[in-house]
Amino acid sequence: MAISKRNLIFLGAPGSGKGTMAAALREVEPLAHISTGDLLRDEIKRDTALGREAAGIMKAGGLVSDDIVCGMVRNRLAQPDCANGFILDGFPRTIAQAEKLTEVLAELNKKLDAVVNIVVEDEVILTRLTSRLSCRGCSEIYNKISKKPKVEGVCDVCGGELYQRPDDSLETAQQRLAVFYKNTQPLIDYYRERGLLVDIDKEEVPEKLEQLLAALA
Ligand code: AMP
Repeated sequence: MAISKRNLIFLGAPGSGKGTMAAALREVEPLAHISTGDLLRDEIKRDTALGREAAGIMKAGGLVSDDIVCGMVRNRLAQPDCANGFILDGFPRTIAQAEKLTEVLAELNKKLDAVVNIVVEDEVILTRLTSRLSCRGCSEIYNKISKKPKVEGVCDVCGGELYQRPDDSLETAQQRLAVFYKNTQPLIDYYRERGLLVDIDKEEVPEKLEQLLAALA
């Protein structure tokens, strides 16, 4: 099924499965995937000035400054692969970022088509975050309980090393969840009022994808 809504935000708590849903959608639609968390982790890996500034904040579960993330997103959205549609994953996280995004999109002559609100029960999230494993090579996501790799510690997709993100420790995960409720949850009403919100509340990924494709048709 082809989708007509192609310029998207995925909104949801950390651990709600935004990255997993983005990967599932990209299996059927070649949208650019823009994860601000991945972009920041890449800056840290390359030991850039920006990465050094962000690392401590991320490790503590706080939010990196709006200026830094908005600048990164602007550069990324201007790239040619975004012409066919994009998924913003983990951005915006504050009302200020949402307002900046509106400006950036207008500047680039683009328009937001839908904001996908991924709703997951609170209890599920902490278990999921603290058992998550990520690939250092390709960012593929695994789970120690529900999605084990074929070989322990090794990515099925690229053979890269799997690791637990430092901010997926219980303490930091709790902090990130608190930050989500305080700073990011208001965006749900913000986008609902603008008629852009699509709620996805199915449990399993295949049904979620079906619900998503229907909503974006
Ligand atoms: P994520 O991979 O989306 O869970 O992001 C990991 C961490 O990167 C977050 O806990 C924040 O510290 C930082 N981060 C990612 N996206 C943003 C954003 N839009 N605004 C501020 N900080 C962000």
